[in-house]
Amino acid sequence: MNNNESQLDSIRNFSGAYPKQIWSLFFSEMWERFCFYGMRGMLTFFMVYHMAMEEKVANLQYGATQAWVYAFTFIGGMFADKILGFKKSLFWGGILMITGSLILTADPHTFFFLGIAFLVVGTGFFKPNISSMVGQLYGADDQRRDAGFSLFYSGINIGAFLGGILMIGVGKGEILSNIIPEHLRWNVAFGLVAVAMFISLIIFYSTRHSLGPIGNSPIDYDNETGKKWYVYAVYIGALACVPVIMKMVSNTRYTDWFMYIIGPFSLLYLFFEMSKLDRQSNLKLLAALVFIVFSSLFWAIFEQAGGSLSLYSAEHLNRGTLNIDPNIVNNSANSLFVIAFAPLVGLLWLWLHKRKAEPNSVVKFGIGFILLGLAFYVFGANKMFAGSNGITSGDIFIFAYFVVTLGEIALSPIGLSLMTKLATPKLQGFMMGMWFLASAYGQYIAGLFGAGISPAENATPLQKLEIYSAGYQQFALYALIAGVLVIAISPWVKKLMGDVK
Ligand code: GLN
Repeated sequence: MNNNESQLDSIRNFSGAYPKQIWSLFFSEMWERFCFYGMRGMLTFFMVYHMAMEEKVANLQYGATQAWVYAFTFIGGMFADKILGFKKSLFWGGILMITGSLILTADPHTFFFLGIAFLVVGTGFFKPNISSMVGQLYGADDQRRDAGFSLFYSGINIGAFLGGILMIGVGKGEILSNIIPEHLRWNVAFGLVAVAMFISLIIFYSTRHSLGPIGNSPIDYDNETGKKWYVYAVYIGALACVPVIMKMVSNTRYTDWFMYIIGPFSLLYLFFEMSKLDRQSNLKLLAALVFIVFSSLFWAIFEQAGGSLSLYSAEHLNRGTLNIDPNIVNNSANSLFVIAFAPLVGLLWLWLHKRKAEPNSVVKFGIGFILLGLAFYVFGANKMFAGSNGITSGDIFIFAYFVVTLGEIALSPIGLSLMTKLATPKLQGFMMGMWFLASAYGQYIAGLFGAGISPAENATPLQKLEIYSAGYQQFALYALIAGVLVIAISPWVKKLMGDVK
């Protein structure tokens, strides 16, 4: 056994519930998600109220930006796998994100798309690789893997909660307004990304040795010195992508083209790989594809959160019983509910499992859609409590988020683990990439959906509320139909999945 293998063995043969290295990954990812969700919560608001964009345009641009973030995780993951290794990739991603944040801090109006483009590319190099490292802390048959991912998912949501509150809170002057001069509020809000990513990188840097060979590059650059330029080529290539992404996001027509091409292209590649596999592996991959396709519809509806729901919150909600700014509620309720209820849902599945009544993964997926549908029905029905000013209940809005979250818990962590179970060993990374690509499509369609229900500028507040509400109830119907469909085809999908539960 060589040194690397024995180091890996000693990491994977940990006692207790979690490997100790998970904490380094937990906190580094927590700060990265702080940035992602903090930015998500500010983007549309900032575009409409501070860059004077039409709501429709802002929704499309929001969708394009978020789609690119996830599409780039597909690309970043591939380069990390083959050239950089996860550790280097993560540092590079973090540095690009810090650069983007500093550019936005300097002048968020003038350099908006440049800063965003750095953040998109940076997140692409960071996000998929930290999740892959979590997976590598476990041996193939370790039953504790799911618990590790659940813990990691809590880290994601603690970051999302803090970032979602702090960034828009600072920008809108709800938080620290006595310290930060009014004209610098948004600069500071965007600057928080640099601070958080600095903390994230320091945490990772100081604990990186405990990961042993996990995350090292597949190429041994000390001995294969001739290949050193690969690394620089990736760095330069990534920088060259920045102006391209900038163009793509600022002119969403280009993003449309990209989205038309990348999906069919990756499907063709998958079919090519499938042609080399046996029937059983192919049936499993087909099942994975069913989950992937449905998940993009799920995210398209769910991700109204950063788009249309952000504008809806700004204009149509009161501060509710808790007297909190509605945008802060919109950005934090979901993550708070995930932190509180994901462990309880886990216990519920366990309890049902013991009674031989736990629904299978496909049915859970269907339940996720039905809950999402019910939640969007409530978002729409909330208009019943509106006054003539078009402002309605912040409390009912929080309740709807509670239901959305139950849907997310039923679907999102399960989807991740399903990908690792259904993919053949060689296609693990690729299928995880496809899962994130589905999120990219989800985000893109979310922008189209949001633009589709954005009211005309000159509509009255009450008319605007009517339009949003009708739109949310339409999305509710899509989700309910999808949920019923998934449950109806569940016996067939289960058959495709073979021995995978
Ligand atoms: N909430 C999860 C995260 O931020 C999953 C998001 C997604 O895949 N669309 O990592």
